[in-house]
Amino acid sequence: MITSCFSRKNRVIFDLHSHSTASDGVLSPRELVVRAVAQGVQVLALTDHDETRGVVEAEVAARELGIDIVPGVEISVSWSGRTVHIVGLYVDISHAGLHAGLQANRSGRGDRARRMGEALAKVGIPGAYEGAYTLAPNKELISRTHFARFLVAKGYVKDLKSVFKKFLIKGKPGYVSHQWASLEDAVRWIRAAGGIAVLAHPGRYNMGRGKMAALFADFKAAGGEAVEVVTASHTPDQVPVYARYALEYGLRASCGSDFHAPGEGGRELGRMPPMPVACEPVWSGR
Ligand code: AMP
Ligand code: MN
Ligand code: MN
Ligand code: MN
Repeated sequence: MITSCFSRKNRVIFDLHSHSTASDGVLSPRELVVRAVAQGVQVLALTDHDETRGVVEAEVAARELGIDIVPGVEISVSWSGRTVHIVGLYVDISHAGLHAGLQANRSGRGDRARRMGEALAKVGIPGAYEGAYTLAPNKELISRTHFARFLVAKGYVKDLKSVFKKFLIKGKPGYVSHQWASLEDAVRWIRAAGGIAVLAHPGRYNMGRGKMAALFADFKAAGGEAVEVVTASHTPDQVPVYARYALEYGLRASCGSDFHAPGEGGRELGRMPPMPVACEPVWSGR
């Protein structure tokens, strides 16, 4: 059932994972807040990739429109040879340690993007770096999504999902491997900034049970406190699976749409199944 993820006490609708033009979303922070209000979301976390520069604009708009912003970030992490995302919620965006860590994580993106452009040129797609660069409003944050949008706009592939499948995931011609922050560093930066570290969309990681258990164990040991149980990345079957992981590892549960853009095939802001009753929501006590 697709409804909303709300608090049981007063049915406030939460969406704790979203992107703006500060990373790979297409709405400005203000436009995102306007859309969240229209969708009935009352508490919205802005969680741009490796970047918090959109949070202040979102907070100003949210104050005007009467909703709450949770200051957040989604940190790219290399763990055991894979990329994993760690969301930080309720972070102090002015914290120097967090700021420096995010800047370090962003700094490799330009070179990675150039290498992606070269890799795509080799398979007959010229100008992809320049195309992605032009589409990225934040030049420190060129992501695979910007490449994907360029490839769709140029007619190489029909939609975003197919671009990733054909070109941008491990083993495909436009993929280049990259070293992100460590899991431990990402969690440490979030905690130092007073935030809660959330393991993002675990159902997307395509690992066996043993590897997934190791990820949860390492995340917990590093100081991680929550996991996304309800996310657009999870099928209805996966929600109870990750609710059980949350209980097993003593983690709270978060919910977020991971909204990036209207009409790109992703989930709408605030449109999510309800949080399983067994879970302790990440917002409880706040
Ligand atoms: P990057 O951080 O540059 O590696 O880009 C990762 C982003 O690409 C994710 O945050 C998503 O927005 C997007 N992405 C990854 N896989 C897919 C997919 N299969 N379909 C659509 N978007 C994807
Ligand atoms: Mn993204
Ligand atoms: Mn993610
Ligand atoms: Mn995301």
